[in-house]
Amino acid sequence: MNNNIADRIADIKSKIGNAVLTAVSKNNPVSRIREAIGAGHRVFGENRVKEAMEKFVSLKEEFPDIELHMIGALQTNKALMAAKLFDVIETIDRPELAKAVSAAIMKIGKKPRLYMEVNVGGETQKSGIEYDKAEKFLRFCLEECNLEIEGLMCIPPQGENPEPYFEKMRLLKEKLNMKHLSMGMSEDYRIAVKFGATEVRIGSAIFK
Ligand SMILES: *Cc1c(COP(=O)(O)O)cnc(C)c1O
Repeated sequence: MNNNIADRIADIKSKIGNAVLTAVSKNNPVSRIREAIGAGHRVFGENRVKEAMEKFVSLKEEFPDIELHMIGALQTNKALMAAKLFDVIETIDRPELAKAVSAAIMKIGKKPRLYMEVNVGGETQKSGIEYDKAEKFLRFCLEECNLEIEGLMCIPPQGENPEPYFEKMRLLKEKLNMKHLSMGMSEDYRIAVKFGATEVRIGSAIFK
C-alpha cells in the first residue's frame, strides 16, 4: 500500500474530504506525471512557467481535461505565457502583476481563474500581498484591472505551527467572500483542511 503514485493519491484523497488535490509536479519528469494521469488524476501545480511549458503543452493537448495551476512567483514578463498555459494562476500578489495579467487576458482572449497570494506570516523574503492590504488589493484588481479574484493562496512560515496562519486565512476568505482557499502542503494538509482549505497543494507526499 502507498508504494506507488496512484496509491498515494488515493490515500491523500481519502483524507481531504471535498477539498481539491493539486498534485505539485515541479521537478518531476513527464513519466511520473503520466503515472498520476493514469490513476485518473488531472489537477497539477507547477511553480515555473518554463518548466511547466516544457512538460504540459503537449500533455494538455493529449489530455484536455488537465487543470494546471501556477503556484510559484510570477514575473510580469512571463504573464502572457502564463495566461496562455495555466487554467488557474494562484499567485497574483502585486499591482504590476495584476496589470500584466490583465493585459495578457485582453490580448489572448482567454481568462485563467485567478487567486491572490497572501504573505500570511508577514515574512520579508516571501512573495504575497500583505495580509492587511489584501482587501485593498482585491479592489484594485477589480476596479483598475477588471480582474476577478476567486480565491486565496498562502504558504505559512516554515517550521512554525501553521494553525494560527490557517485560521487567519480562513477569516480572510470569509471577509472577502472568496470561493477558494489554497493552503496545505505535504506536511500540514490535514490541518489545513480542518481550517477550511478548499484546495491542498501536495508534491513530495505524492511523488517522493
Ligand atoms: C513545492 C510546493 C508545494 C508542495 O510542497 P510539498 O511539501 O512537496 O508538498 C506546495 N506549494 C507551493 C507553492 C510549492 O512551491
